[in-house]
Amino acid sequence: MAPVPRAHVYFWDGERRVAPPIHRRWYTERGIRELNERLRAPPVALRFRAMAADLSPRRRGALTLEAVALAREVMAALFARAEPLVARHLRNYPLPEFDPDRFASPLGRAASERYLRLLQEHEPRFRPKAVRGRRVIPPIVILGTSRSAESLRMHALSGPRIAWTVLENQRGSAHADYCLDVTAFGAEDATALLEYWWEGREPGDRGIQEAYDTLFHESLHRLCDLANPFGPQYGPKGGAKEHYWMEEYEPFASHVERILVEHLAGGREKGLLRRRLAGKD
Ligand SMILES: [Zn+2]
Repeated sequence: MAPVPRAHVYFWDGERRVAPPIHRRWYTERGIRELNERLRAPPVALRFRAMAADLSPRRRGALTLEAVALAREVMAALFARAEPLVARHLRNYPLPEFDPDRFASPLGRAASERYLRLLQEHEPRFRPKAVRGRRVIPPIVILGTSRSAESLRMHALSGPRIAWTVLENQRGSAHADYCLDVTAFGAEDATALLEYWWEGREPGDRGIQEAYDTLFHESLHRLCDLANPFGPQYGPKGGAKEHYWMEEYEPFASHVERILVEHLAGGREKGLLRRRLAGKD
């Protein structure tokens, strides 16, 4: 069931801010389908058309939401494999006031950890909040867009129509972005996922691994928002620390790579989207 739209409190490098609620329409299946279909980047739009052409007219209408459902399913499966590991690593979350450059090194993060342990021993409220697995899946997922989750979340979805004039693109090198209930997967990752899920391409392909890494990464962003006792951390400093925490902090980063490899080696989702849609004919 769609969650009740609510305002979100978050922190922009230390400054407390409030984002007004997203209109309830965008939490419904119809709304999510519309966002996906209207915000698709051209290469993804062309791929969806080619996929639709392979289906009977009766099944075509289900394609968008089946693809989104599969993305969410993979996020949940990857997160379930990593959950105990993530729960432990959450105890090392970056402190809001800690310097990002200092945090981004084995010595600096050890200092942050020591300080954090002291706080957590004396004050239970500094321990990460418990978050149930399913909650890390973002309610609004857009697969294959160049628009940024931030411009969607903050500006474009407060009414029942998309406010086109306030949309912005994702940053050049981003694979995806997440912002308070909204995940926007970029065109490159979405294309790789569809090659795997539809064409049955081998998971040895680098693009597919990167796309799976992105799926997992986006669930971690949401987890950080929900679990951080200091609230969701945004802004250049908060973002840099969160990325270091999830991508380079060892041994967590290597464990995550192993989980992704094991999952992909199982090949469960290879050609799965096509089978699901074709199978229902
Ligand atoms: Zn990120």
